[in-house]
Amino acid sequence: MKIRRLLRTVLSFVLVAAINVGIVTSYAPVSASSNMTEQEIRDEIDRIEKENADRKEEIDRIDGAIGDTKEEQDKIALMLGEQKNEVDYYNNLVYYKNEDIRAKQSEIDKKNQEIAQLDDKLAKTDADIKAAEKENKENLEKFAQIIRTMYTSGNSDVFGVLSGATDFYQLMVSSEIVGNITEKNYEFMNQLKADIKQLEADKNTYETDKRTLEEKRTALEADKQMLEGEKAELVTLQDEAQSKADGYQADYDKYQGILNDLQYDQDNLQYLVDVGESEIEAFEEQLKQMIIDKTEDGTTLQEGDWIWPVPGFSYISCYFGWDYYFGRYHKGIDIGDWGIFGSNIYATKGGTVIIAEDWYIPGYSYGKYVTVDHGGGYTSTYAHMDTVNVYVGQVVEKGDVLGTVGNTGFSTGPHLHFEIRIDGEPLDPFNYVEIY
Ligand SMILES: [Zn+2]
Repeated sequence: MKIRRLLRTVLSFVLVAAINVGIVTSYAPVSASSNMTEQEIRDEIDRIEKENADRKEEIDRIDGAIGDTKEEQDKIALMLGEQKNEVDYYNNLVYYKNEDIRAKQSEIDKKNQEIAQLDDKLAKTDADIKAAEKENKENLEKFAQIIRTMYTSGNSDVFGVLSGATDFYQLMVSSEIVGNITEKNYEFMNQLKADIKQLEADKNTYETDKRTLEEKRTALEADKQMLEGEKAELVTLQDEAQSKADGYQADYDKYQGILNDLQYDQDNLQYLVDVGESEIEAFEEQLKQMIIDKTEDGTTLQEGDWIWPVPGFSYISCYFGWDYYFGRYHKGIDIGDWGIFGSNIYATKGGTVIIAEDWYIPGYSYGKYVTVDHGGGYTSTYAHMDTVNVYVGQVVEKGDVLGTVGNTGFSTGPHLHFEIRIDGEPLDPFNYVEIY
């Protein structure tokens, strides 16, 4: 986190600096081109090249950070995947547990329904029993009335019967007064008696059945209770798995946020690099035009071969072409042997001096340098000189001393930067000169 914050600070500084400069330089070639000297343009190119080199370094560094972050994110993605599987696993278990609970509940519901039906039957049976008993009682009261009538009319036998009777039925069946009752009424009462017995038997059966059902329901409810308990445990595990998955997801998202930021920063830097490169291209075009303007028209290349500008020195510290070290296109060759400082620089070919630059900004560009027009659009340039011994317009012969090797401008040690161009377009000097 600390490194990250540092990176952000550095990046924002680089970006702000780059954006500020970007605005200035993107207008400079257009508005100030006529006021800028060749040297100033070269300085500007140098400056942009250096900035771009820093930006590219930063882009590479961000590449590394993106790689590292992605690696971390991948690890989390792996854990997240596993965690999601675990969540799915518990979701499944909870789902099936819920199914079991539902099935159990529907069994309980069914039992409740059956119990309710039995309750209805019991209520109906109770009502039937009560109705039959009521009817029976009414009939018995009628008999009692008859008996009372018989008693008041002087039939003493009634009391004998009554004293041995256990209930009114007994009385009815055993009494002589039965004779006074019509056969139809007797049978009706017998039927009532039987009905009540049957109803009570039914009621008992129903009650037994109900008890059995209630026992089953209680067992089912216990089962359900157990299932609910199991479910609760599963839900706890499910919640734990989910919150763990959420944690991984949050981590994953956090890394994605960092990646997005890094990508954003990198894109910005790349954009600035692209802008810088197009600026350099525009400046280079201007430089080419300046050289073309300075070279004389309608001339032909001087005859004869090209000579090595620093005889006795042959160590090439940087060749023509793409320079990986500085991340730029190297438009000439660098000759940088030990002890080269102060050595004479000789004109590679005869011609007219068109640039003899003595003014420079330390650390930037060519430093002190000389350009010679050899005719036919060909020029040669000698940069980072310590002393300049010629002047603009001076005609020089092949092998004339132009000055001495130095370390001026953008140079990390004494060396000669040597260029050959045609119409301002750099060529590989080794296509023309040979070391000796
Ligand atoms: Zn060079």
